[in-house]
Amino acid sequence: MLHHAGPGPRTPSRAPRARAPRARAPRARAPRARALAVATACALLVTACGGSRAGGSAGGGRLTVSYEAAKARDVRDRDFLRGRRLAERVADDLNRALRLPRDIAVTGRSCPEGDFPDYDPETGRVTLCYGYVGEVRSMFQDAEETRDDAGERTAGVVTETLYHELAHALIHRLDLRFTGHEEDVADQFAAYRLIPRGAAGRAALRAAADNYAQYAADSDPSDDDPSDEHAPDAARSANYLCYLYGSAPGRDKKLVDGKRLTKDRAEQCEDEYAALRRGWDALLAPHAR
Ligand SMILES: [Zn+2]
Repeated sequence: MLHHAGPGPRTPSRAPRARAPRARAPRARAPRARALAVATACALLVTACGGSRAGGSAGGGRLTVSYEAAKARDVRDRDFLRGRRLAERVADDLNRALRLPRDIAVTGRSCPEGDFPDYDPETGRVTLCYGYVGEVRSMFQDAEETRDDAGERTAGVVTETLYHELAHALIHRLDLRFTGHEEDVADQFAAYRLIPRGAAGRAALRAAADNYAQYAADSDPSDDDPSDEHAPDAARSANYLCYLYGSAPGRDKKLVDGKRLTKDRAEQCEDEYAALRRGWDALLAPHAR
């Protein structure tokens, strides 16, 4: 699975896999420890650290977006990203909603082939690989049922990916306390931001669910690694369908197809969606603008 391009070696068994694309942020231990040390120092020296109320952020930071030069193979994908302002729109959303202690940079770049978007705690940067955009678009273009609106679906997946990676960034920079797997919590953040945005947000999350299903279909189940920090792609797909269904039970009954999302699971989706909203509301409340 993917989005894990960062420092930290990946287990070799996953590297050659076709679906490796959806791994996500690196878990760098050292930077995390450093962040905690800084937080402790700030607790002792409130003024020097800009002051923070109720554990919230001082608020001088912003999400920023930039694009590095693209290699020839990536020019089209860079232009796709810039033209649609996908990262800028995500940054605007979070800048309006949150006070950040320091800047978080989102940078588009030509990554080494096979790398995927990630968050690097050492630099505080989310890297959005141009090649990843091209890969997702190819997957949609190659499937007959998604060919016609491959561009729109790709934009949806990229937007979901940005929210997922930025969840790692917020967890790290805001020192958010949660339980469970961080990868699941990051997926839930994408649902938390996208679903309330109406039809476009729901379509983006649906595109991400479909894309995870494509990765699952392309992979060999025997390659699944029970110790991977990410849930299997099929489960991530089912979770997104569940949140979509649970946000408006009865609105789109076709989401409960009995395969990707079963009737049994669907019965608890309203509660699951409400729980993730409560959880993220509580995590972000001290940092809200
Ligand atoms: Zn992740």
